Amino acid sequence: MDIGSSLKLVKRRIEEAAAASGRKGEDVKLVAVTKTVGTDRIKEAASLGVTCIGENRVQEILDKYQVLKEYPLEWHMIGHLQRNKVKYIIDKVALIHSVDSIALAEEINRRALQAGRRIDVLLQVNVSGEESKYGMSQGAVQGFLERAKEMQNIHIRGLMTIAPYTHDPEEVRPVFARLKDIFEEIKTAAIPRVDMDFLSMGMTGDYTVAIEEGANIVRIGTGIFGSRGQ
Ligand SMILES: *Cc1c(COP(=O)(O)O)cnc(C)c1O
Repeated sequence: MDIGSSLKLVKRRIEEAAAASGRKGEDVKLVAVTKTVGTDRIKEAASLGVTCIGENRVQEILDKYQVLKEYPLEWHMIGHLQRNKVKYIIDKVALIHSVDSIALAEEINRRALQAGRRIDVLLQVNVSGEESKYGMSQGAVQGFLERAKEMQNIHIRGLMTIAPYTHDPEEVRPVFARLKDIFEEIKTAAIPRVDMDFLSMGMTGDYTVAIEEGANIVRIGTGIFGSRGQ
């Protein structure tokens, strides 16, 4: 399927899942995951209305940014971020989805201060406690927020998770429901300078379930660009 047809299908499924949870398609932000996708195809996606792209490797962001910086694209860092690489992307990305330690948050805060900006971040939570080696445990979230809320140059905007891979997305529905619960708990706690605006969950295999459980950002690669051939 070409990118245009895939995008249409994805948008329709987003609309249906949003309707199932009493929302509109436009309430859900689509991040087109462009890792391994060449810049010509990203330009094509941009011409078809894609406005947010997600990358998981710093080097790939830097290479593509050179080519695409004139395009009206919002860059999202969705992969594990090493502290020593924060400085390369701090002035390029709109949202970092993958903050999973105090040390990383401190480095982002320091570099954002130097760059004269306040950067939006999400905490990556490893809800299932298995499969993925990245993301903080549920139990670590509270302590993290206590420390990170003092960091003037990062703005905590919500939570992100990667569900374990399954053939049947119904199996991971409880993972999404649990993250939504944590999201609501933090919102209710009304911690100064911590905002729960974004819940980033759902990929090609499970995004409709994630939206039904409350996701308002989905990260979709294969479903738009086809198989990455790995
Ligand atoms: C690759 C990736 C995605 C997209 O995966 P697809 O299954 O291709 O949709 C989403 N989120 C993260 C963090 C990724 O690394």
